[in-house]
Amino acid sequence: MPKPGRLIVFSAPSGAGKSSLKDALMARFPSLRYSVSATTRKPRPGEVDGVHYYFKTQDEFRALIDHQDLVEHMQVHGNYYGTPRSPIMKALQEGHSVILDLDVYGKVNFDKAFPDALGILIVPPSLEELERRLVGRKSDDAETIRLRLQNASRELEFATREGKYEYTVVNDNFHHALEELTRILEKELGETAQVRPHAQSQL
Ligand code: ADP
Ligand code: 5GP
Repeated sequence: MPKPGRLIVFSAPSGAGKSSLKDALMARFPSLRYSVSATTRKPRPGEVDGVHYYFKTQDEFRALIDHQDLVEHMQVHGNYYGTPRSPIMKALQEGHSVILDLDVYGKVNFDKAFPDALGILIVPPSLEELERRLVGRKSDDAETIRLRLQNASRELEFATREGKYEYTVVNDNFHHALEELTRILEKELGETAQVRPHAQSQL
C-alpha cells in the first residue's frame, strides 16, 4: 500500500515566478505530479494543450462545471480557470503528491474539498519587479499586464488576510527561492530532492 500523497497548492500573483519555480521543483522531485487546469484563456506561444492547460471554449468549460468535473473554478483576469477532479484522485490513489496552481480565491474554495492541502504563497520582492517580469516575459499585451498588476496587490492583501498558507516564499533571487522551496518539500513530503550539481535553470 503506497503512502498517500499530499496536495500542495501554489498561489502567486501572475508573474511572480510560480511556473518557473514549479518546473524546477518537479525536476527535483520526480514522483510529484502537476494538476493541469482547464481554462478559457488563449494559449501563449509555446503552451501545449494538456501540458500547461486544457484549453477550452466557454461552452466546453460550462459542460465541465455542469458535469461536476471540477473541484473548483474561478474567473481570473477575465478568463475561467478550474481544477479537474479525476486526475488528482488518480494520482493520490497511486501514492503521488500533486502540485496545483490556484489563484488566491480558488484556494479558499479548494480548501473546502481538501482541507488538508498544503498552501505555499509565492510573492514577488516588489510590485515594480513584478511589472518588470510580466513585461520581460513577453507573453501578454499591455492591457493584460495592466490588469494583472492591478489585481496583484488585491490578491496579496486577500491572501494575507483570508488565505490559509503554511509557507510564504519571496521569489527575489530565483536560486534562493528554489532552495527554500526544496527544503519545504523535503520536510513535508519526507523525500530527498534529486539535485544534479550541473543542472542549471535558465535564470
Ligand atoms: P508566473 O507563473 O508566476 O506567472 P513565471 O514563472 O512565468 O511566473 O515568471 C514570470 C517571468 O519572470 C518569467 O519570464 C521568468 O523567467 C521570470 N522570473 C521568475 N523568477 C524570477 C526571479 N527570481 N528573478 C527574475 N526573473 C524571474
Ligand atoms: P495564467 O493565465 O498566468 O496562467 O494564470 C492566471 C491565474 O490563474 C494565476 O493566478 C493562476 O494561479 C490561476 N489559476 C491557474 N489555474 C487555476 C485553477 O485551476 N483554478 C484557479 N482558481 N486558478 C487557477
